[in-house]
Amino acid sequence: MAMNRVQFQPGLSMPEFIKRYGTEVSCEAALEQARWPAGFRCPRCNGSPYSRVHGRAHALFQCQTCRHQTSLIAGTVMQGTKLPLTVWFLAIYLISQAKTGLSSLALKRHLGVSYPTAWLIHHKLMQAMADREARYVLDRQVQVDDAYLGGERTGGKAGRGSENKVPFVAAVSLSDEGHPLRVKLTPVAGFSLKAIAQWAKANLAPASTVFSDGLACFAAVTAAGCTHQPTVVGARKPKDLPEFKWINTVLGNLKTSLSGSYHAFDFQKVCGPIPGRVRLSIQPPLQSEHAEYTTARGCRRLPAKTPAGDSVG
Ligand SMILES: [Zn+2]
Repeated sequence: MAMNRVQFQPGLSMPEFIKRYGTEVSCEAALEQARWPAGFRCPRCNGSPYSRVHGRAHALFQCQTCRHQTSLIAGTVMQGTKLPLTVWFLAIYLISQAKTGLSSLALKRHLGVSYPTAWLIHHKLMQAMADREARYVLDRQVQVDDAYLGGERTGGKAGRGSENKVPFVAAVSLSDEGHPLRVKLTPVAGFSLKAIAQWAKANLAPASTVFSDGLACFAAVTAAGCTHQPTVVGARKPKDLPEFKWINTVLGNLKTSLSGSYHAFDFQKVCGPIPGRVRLSIQPPLQSEHAEYTTARGCRRLPAKTPAGDSVG
């Protein structure tokens, strides 16, 4: 099997992380540098002279001009926390490095905190990541695919007709050299021209080139000023379709991440209500024979253990 060079990208090792952010002082310095790259600025009067207030759990700055006090963690996801910054930084490291996903329960064990605390840290960090990602639109070359998440319902319809699957658009933008840049996974009401036009206007930059399979609704990306390049897939396998290499890799990684983090996943809760669809509040376990991922190209079930990063079909 050919070696996937993407899997061998350098990352931040645990020893290097501990060297950089292993103490409260180093975490405070990193946060201070991130908040005020050009030095402290008072949020009230914009003055720069300050003095440090000692004896607090977290660094506190007092403006020498107006005497306004500013906590280092004020206005960040860590605002109000009593936990050391080292715990937050470790959580950021573990969540961002875990390619197979990380549950709040696993985070609890790693951080040595209670489950509610780990859950709160986990969700605050995920929300911060989601807020950041929401600012971006995809541009240049964009590979898109239609996909569904969710398990089959006992007695319900199978495959695409299943009542409790959440349809979503998966899209990845590529650089001019063909390297993946950004990913967007967006729940949609369905794969209609109207829904895709709406999605494209919100998520694609005009003049992008969109590569999709032959599903008719993707022609609606032209409503957002994009060029559409459909490819009729037919019976060809993913390895024969380089134009979908990265979107297939993204979907494979998504599947691995979800099954690595959760025994059950409430897609309705995460994706929100979708008009016109019958939804379940509790979903079957997203594992083994219950785990199903399909695309409108025709009910493709992934193997239970998909190697992360491999193209899937
Ligand atoms: Zn001030």
